Amino acid sequence: MKRLSIKARVTFWYTLLVALIALLAAGALFWSAQRMMDNYYEEALVGTTQLALNDVRMEDGELEIDRNLDDLPSVRVSLYTRSGDLIYGKWRFDLPFEENVIRPAAERSGERWYVLDTRMSFPDAEDIWLRCYISADAAANLNDMSATLLLALLPALVVVAGVGGYFIARRAFRPVTRIARTAESIIDGKDLQKRIGLQGARDELYRIAKVFDDMLDRLEHSFERERRFTSDASHELRTPVAAILAQADFALSDIATGEDKEEALRDIRLRAGQMSTLIGRLLALTRMDAGQTRLEMERIDLADIAEVAAMQVEESAAARGMTVECAANGPVWAMCDQTMLTQALLNLAENAVKYGREGGHIRIAAHAEGETARLIVEDDGPGIEPDALPHIFERFYQGDRSRNAGGAGLGLSLVQLIAKLHGGSVEAESAPGVGSRFIIVLPRAREEQEA
Ligand code: ADP
Repeated sequence: MKRLSIKARVTFWYTLLVALIALLAAGALFWSAQRMMDNYYEEALVGTTQLALNDVRMEDGELEIDRNLDDLPSVRVSLYTRSGDLIYGKWRFDLPFEENVIRPAAERSGERWYVLDTRMSFPDAEDIWLRCYISADAAANLNDMSATLLLALLPALVVVAGVGGYFIARRAFRPVTRIARTAESIIDGKDLQKRIGLQGARDELYRIAKVFDDMLDRLEHSFERERRFTSDASHELRTPVAAILAQADFALSDIATGEDKEEALRDIRLRAGQMSTLIGRLLALTRMDAGQTRLEMERIDLADIAEVAAMQVEESAAARGMTVECAANGPVWAMCDQTMLTQALLNLAENAVKYGREGGHIRIAAHAEGETARLIVEDDGPGIEPDALPHIFERFYQGDRSRNAGGAGLGLSLVQLIAKLHGGSVEAESAPGVGSRFIIVLPRAREEQEA
């Protein structure tokens, strides 16, 4: 049974159930018809016996019968002496007398009857037997009809139920077949673009198919992201590696002077440093994606983090003639991993230095707002174009002017991931020509909250 398909099993049980119900219904019908027949026989025999008892009398040892008992409707009447000799009526069958029981009896010709015997007593004569009997044809017909019906109809019903059940099951399971075929074709052809696309009734199978399609959407999306990530990462690494190779080849060639060699080494050092940052960021991103990063959560004053970041970028900002202001007074408590959050804020501050206006101003601040604790980095640089703004948090996205700034478009993705891991988010606001503002929004820790 376990080897059969669900369709076959459903059909089997369905047919069995229909056959069982049909049998039960036929049984119940037969039983109630039989009861009705029995009642009819009993009433007819008892009623006729009553009539006959009133019409038979014994007068001076002579039997007197008031009317022709053979004329009574449907029931035949006979009278016998106590020893069994026929006095009145017709002899039809041998059956010992027994009082007050309705019994079946058969004639030699095969005709069947139901019999009721009654003993009549008289004060001055011998008892006699009054026998009333009625043809059992109707009951026999009923039995015959029921048997024929059962024998002929039941197999037909089973066949109809089986075929019908199979078609219903096949129709009901068509979506399942479709789901299985789609899954198989995806496995065979590795084509993640295929979908089940079930239309029609919004039933359980529709939901399964929908879940399956949604899962395929996400799978396809995530495979595509993975593929793009790998190709973007290789591309970003290939450029500095090619430059390093070219510089090294040049430094090793005969035409390079001592000064050229030093300059080539410096360039190699710079590009290797950028590669190291890129590899570090790639590693951090993949680890965080895989959920392998453990956060060392503690209650931190975000003002401290803001000060550290401001201090760290002061030198590079000064190199571009920029001033850095740290606007953080009073504790702004948040539960966070200090190293990670500092790294995130530093990414924003470094961007402000890289993309801010030469000779401009950078403001790094920490403050609480309602239930949130916020870290803010503002610059008065050229800002971000409105059509670029929605993309800046995408991996490897770089603005046109930023291609030569040494980054690879991973800084903001990391900031966003770190904020998410802390149960927060990062927002960007920018007005071209006026400046940009980045805000890390975190849940605020209560005063008494401990790590
Ligand atoms: P990267 O700095 O390595 O290019 P990021 O992910 O840090 O990558 O930033 C993505 C892009 O967002 C940058 O290439 C730049 O175009 C834009 N951007 C980020 N910060 C600023 C800023 N403070 N001002 C203007 N543009 C910015």
